[in-house]
Amino acid sequence: MSIETRTSIVWDYAPAPESADHVRLRDRYGVFIDGEFMDPAEGRYVPTINPATEEPIAEVGWASASDVGRAVEAARVAQARWAGLPGLERGKYLFRIARLIQERARELAVAETLDGGKPLRESRDVDIPLAAAHFFHYAGWADKLEYGVNAREVAPLGVVGQIVPWNFPLLMAAWKLAPALACGNTAILKPAETTPLTALMLGEIIQEAELPPGVVSILPGDGSAGATLVRAPGIDKIAFTGSTAVGRDIQAALAGRQVGLTLELGGKSANIIFEDAALDQAIEGIVNGIFFNQGHVCCAGSRLLIQESVQEEVIGKLWARMGRLRVGDPLDKNTDVGAINSAEQLERIETLVAAGEDEGASRRSIACELPERGYWFAPTLFTEVSPAHRIAVEEIFGPVVSVLTFRTQAEAIEKTNNSRYGLAAGIWTDKGSKAFEVARALQAGVVWQNTYNHFDPTAAFGGYKESGFGREGGPAGLRPYLRVVR
Ligand code: NAP
Ligand code: MG
Repeated sequence: MSIETRTSIVWDYAPAPESADHVRLRDRYGVFIDGEFMDPAEGRYVPTINPATEEPIAEVGWASASDVGRAVEAARVAQARWAGLPGLERGKYLFRIARLIQERARELAVAETLDGGKPLRESRDVDIPLAAAHFFHYAGWADKLEYGVNAREVAPLGVVGQIVPWNFPLLMAAWKLAPALACGNTAILKPAETTPLTALMLGEIIQEAELPPGVVSILPGDGSAGATLVRAPGIDKIAFTGSTAVGRDIQAALAGRQVGLTLELGGKSANIIFEDAALDQAIEGIVNGIFFNQGHVCCAGSRLLIQESVQEEVIGKLWARMGRLRVGDPLDKNTDVGAINSAEQLERIETLVAAGEDEGASRRSIACELPERGYWFAPTLFTEVSPAHRIAVEEIFGPVVSVLTFRTQAEAIEKTNNSRYGLAAGIWTDKGSKAFEVARALQAGVVWQNTYNHFDPTAAFGGYKESGFGREGGPAGLRPYLRVVR
């Protein structure tokens, strides 16, 4: 007689990697000017690498000053005709781009993950669908522009230069291009050095959508390509998303010129947990607020403000939840935290984390097996942080959360506003009236209540103070691309 013995079940995840076989990537991409991919004028190609493996993915042509000149020329020539099209017709092109993004969504998601290191779950469920949604949204505005600006008569600005960072490459390109094109401008996009691939795939989509040549040009390259674009004669507006330091440089470069400017810069956003909040729900919001996209999020909830009475409980629950985060292969569908975008960004995170330890805050990083190659940083929690510590003041742009505490509502507001930034904030409370009262007192462009990092093309996004100026998304996002005629 055999006795059945039961083995204990280990509830672990089997690997669930998404295949990259279906992605149609070229070995080499030129710069995209006047509707064509072409060799960069100086013939320089640089490989873009996968930060999870350090392997090259494709070679990308880097734009120089003469490419910027060619793109501006093409954009100038194309602009009058583009602006002269009825809004309804411009809208049709944008709808086409939106649908083609949807058609190639699976491919774009894998490419975004390969090039930037973010978990596939996020590129598949957030970046790519939202990029399509922005084109859909502004396609709908193209024939209703005057209704977006209080029934005034409006005209496009002309040729706009748009510079985007590496944390949401395709999504930031969509945030910039969709409203600019809907309003009748032509655009030159400069993607970030480490993540040019999906912008170049968008170039293919733009070709397939048969957008008139010159309406969009895409110029990969390093910061100097961006700096050249900013200073190029024949540009009517610059829209920039990136660091406050570069934003400042751009503003100085444009001083005294008739060139419009919007800046979407950094942040050190507070996520405020009141004692009456639904704490388990808040823990999920804290995790989503700071570990989403490895914390490479301008509005990341990187300053966690907890009411003293629940401090121990929240930190205990948060630490337990952090222990269940899965860090590793970004292509694995179960991965929560992927690779850090670049060696430079990893170094920046390490420097600030070391400063936190030196200044006396208490650090805990989760134990996880990190791959040997690639750039990785374990999710980290700092307690005993004082408001003057660098980790409480400076943007880390990584998976690191700093805990501060407060006793009263007034103190929570004061601590939140005690920042040179003002991009976003989160409020967790059971009381709607308290949430509204606190939200009104906060200097932050976006305030989320009982949620965090929630984005929608119909809602305006943008900052206060050193987080920049100008709004993207919704009708407010039309204004920076229009001139009021009457
Ligand atoms: P960054 O260094 O400012 O770069 C942003 C873009 O500007 C990149 O395309 C970059 O090219 C280019 N660039 C660099 N130097 C330039 C110059 N002198 N003139 C013109 N363009 C130049 O920022 P990052 O490190 O890539 O991105 C992280 C920062 O962006 C964080 O501070 C974050 O908060 C902010 N961000 C803000 C938002 C928002 O909506 N507010 C959204 C996302 C990110 P290279 O890539 O070749 O350097
Ligand atoms: Mg890359």
